Amino acid sequence: MHQVPLYINGEFSQSSSDTWIDVVNPANQEVLAKVPCATEAEVQAAITSAQETFKTWKEVPISERARVMMRYAALLKEHHDEIATIICHELGKTFEDAKGDVWRGIEVVEQAANAPSMMMGETVGNVARNIDTYSYMQPLGVCAGITPFNFPAMIPLWMFPLAIVCGNTFILKPSEQDPLTPMRLVELFEEAGAPKGVLQVVHGTKPQVDQILEAPEVRAISFVGSCGVGQYIYSKGTQNLKRVQACVGAKNHMVIMPDSKKEQLINNLVGSSVGAAGQRCMGISVAVFVGNSKEWVADLKEAFTKVRPGVWNDSEAAYGPQTTGAAKARILSLIDSAKQQGATCLLDGSDFTVEGYENGNWVGPTLFTDVTPEMDLYKEEIFGPVLACMFVDTLEEAIELINNSPYGNGTSLFTSSGAAARKFQHHIEVGQVGINVPIPVPLPFFSFTGWKGSFYGDQHTYGKQGVRFYTETKTITSRWFEDDAVSGPNMSINLK
Ligand code: NAD
Repeated sequence: MHQVPLYINGEFSQSSSDTWIDVVNPANQEVLAKVPCATEAEVQAAITSAQETFKTWKEVPISERARVMMRYAALLKEHHDEIATIICHELGKTFEDAKGDVWRGIEVVEQAANAPSMMMGETVGNVARNIDTYSYMQPLGVCAGITPFNFPAMIPLWMFPLAIVCGNTFILKPSEQDPLTPMRLVELFEEAGAPKGVLQVVHGTKPQVDQILEAPEVRAISFVGSCGVGQYIYSKGTQNLKRVQACVGAKNHMVIMPDSKKEQLINNLVGSSVGAAGQRCMGISVAVFVGNSKEWVADLKEAFTKVRPGVWNDSEAAYGPQTTGAAKARILSLIDSAKQQGATCLLDGSDFTVEGYENGNWVGPTLFTDVTPEMDLYKEEIFGPVLACMFVDTLEEAIELINNSPYGNGTSLFTSSGAAARKFQHHIEVGQVGINVPIPVPLPFFSFTGWKGSFYGDQHTYGKQGVRFYTETKTITSRWFEDDAVSGPNMSINLK
């Protein structure tokens, strides 16, 4: 049985823990590996090594640090299919979707290679006579990242390349559900020339995260995961006086105007709601039909019935299994609750199975109408292939519905009207808006900007905000005396 190693001070080492968790293929329940819950001493060793390495890594010229990222991006591209296949086995994504997971991560590494431009400070000459002010962005020190199961390549790559290229060292605590993908990313990072100790990996669950949150050496925490855990990490991290950015759960609405292009709308809605088995934080879980567009629900149902989940290497499969049996059970209980609370189930995927893989965590595409804001199906993040349809009369009502939601990760509007699009994008209280684009995840030269209950913190992930999160600004005001002229003490705080 493969035992997933830790990565401490540049060495892949076996944990001496007596607590291990199975890494399971969700399509057939095969145990692929065991991942340790690192001991306190192992987590401390990672923290100490990261702190020690920071002293030398921050002195490495920025262009050399950037070149590590250039080599890393090239290596990730070379191993793109191989990494995707690991994702397919431990998470069950279809091959094409898994390749997307890797690719969206590679794009962040490419952007990290632009660090020299992104880390430029500001200058103003002659702020007072013969005095100049300029600023530098300097690294913080030891940063840490805690990542979820649903993008085991992309989300670790949102974090450590940018933190490290800025001159920090980094401790990654990946999801215990699919650690094999991040470990492969780490092997390739080492191959790209990253010096020993700049990146450390410890595995585990709450106790290991708590130790990171309590460690005085750790300056900043990046978290992506569920709302409850994110709130906990944000509170505890900031209580311990750390910077925290926490990207958490979501309920994303798509608004459908009657002037939308029907075919494009239906295809986009199907892909964005049940794609990746609904396990995307930017996936659509609520379709809001405005006015007569509700007549298209029949076409939507027909399109849903054609969607067939399957195993990763079935090229016809639309999506894979849910990550765990517990996740599947939770989704089925939300489907049940919706039926009991009065929603109409047009298509029920509760009993879906795949021939030859009967013990996989399958949930078929599921479609509800007559959903109201009071129902659990609307209030809870489902994270499954379940779409709730709601009907309103006007765009204004749709905007009000969305603005009343506690979440604010993503939303989209399908329309042919520029005026409707302008109104929607201006008034909507959501951080990432798509106009005829169903999943508007910004590319890495922007930042991933969830709002309201979908994000806790200030500076968002990747892009310029990511660079600000991982750096400290130092502002220097300087004067050089040309001669020995002395002008007596300056008793005010004005620069003279
Ligand atoms: P999760 O919150 O269960 O786990 C995330 C990480 O936190 C894991 O590494 C896990 O080991 C750790 N963890 C779990 N319980 C903990 C605890 N009590 N204390 C400290 N650490 C703990 O999330 P998940 O199920 O892996 O991922 C799915 C969730 O992530 C969904 O809610 C989804 O919306 C969210 N997500 C959000 C974004 C975003 O950008 N907003 C992106 C992807 C996923």
